[in-house]
Amino acid sequence: TRRPPPAAALPRYARVNTLRSSVDGACAALVREGYTLLAAPASPSAPGPGEAWVDREVPSLLVLPPRAELHGHAMVRRAALVLQEKASAMAPVALAPAAGGLVVDACAAPGNKTSQLAALAAEGRVVACERDGARAATLRRRVEEAAEGRVSVRCVDFLQLDPQSEEMRGVESVLLDPSCSGSGIVERGAAHGAAEHPSPSDGAARLSALAAMQLRLLRHALSFPAARAVVYSTCSVHPIENELVVAAALGAARGWRLAAPAALRRWKCRGLPLGGLDAEQCERLVRAAPFVQTNGFFIARFERCGP
Ligand code: SAM
Repeated sequence: TRRPPPAAALPRYARVNTLRSSVDGACAALVREGYTLLAAPASPSAPGPGEAWVDREVPSLLVLPPRAELHGHAMVRRAALVLQEKASAMAPVALAPAAGGLVVDACAAPGNKTSQLAALAAEGRVVACERDGARAATLRRRVEEAAEGRVSVRCVDFLQLDPQSEEMRGVESVLLDPSCSGSGIVERGAAHGAAEHPSPSDGAARLSALAAMQLRLLRHALSFPAARAVVYSTCSVHPIENELVVAAALGAARGWRLAAPAALRRWKCRGLPLGGLDAEQCERLVRAAPFVQTNGFFIARFERCGP
């Protein structure tokens, strides 16, 4: 089998928090520090030392050399830059919430996607749910730093959020990024990663339990009466958590179809024909193997097609 490239060869990613800085402003700051800004290459590669570019799929994402150390950087300290993997930053871009709308981030902590959603929704508002108390506290701290006043954090099980309540009847888009096996996650410290095959901790029973919960959450997300778009994302490479969950949800939900996320049009790796999904539906799904550019991940965008 082909050995994956070392995790140490993957680029570093930093998202410009456009609530704090413009992309141009952040790029200018990098140039002042000695970086050369290049056009993003068409095929996946990492910038060389002293080089950087703006990502092709996520226009607020800066791509930096593999060993770039940004943890203590002034822009990171004031939350103008958020250290976030490309795999993570692609899901809010796939949702593309309308400016001014009400968005639910269903499984939100630690909140990297939450502040990105707040930036994309411009004058809109994000309701961020997290059922775990300690993680909800982290989420609160992160959104105070990065998206103050735009996000309302609820320490609640998303399944307990009533879609028919007065507030939730106004929700236009939902991001569902539930707990998953994490089988696509690249260990940055590792010389080589695994994840091309299930690891022992991805036992069949655990994966089935995760998939059952993911399906319950997805069906709940699809029940918000005014929602026009729902994005389901995982950092798993297992079809049981991805295509099979999507196929089961589509089979049970009326008035929804899969749609290719407009911003990810050029992405090559698409869904697998499993669970009864046809070739056209698979073309609308987005998937990545770990180590190609970032973590392995999966994204499905549902759009309302009925009343
Ligand atoms: N979206 C996050 C981000 O990008 O920073 C990562 C989310 S992580 C994959 C999943 C999170 O969902 C965990 O913090 C977990 O505690 C939370 N969670 C799992 N099930 C939930 C539920 N039913 N309701 C609310 N939160 C849930």
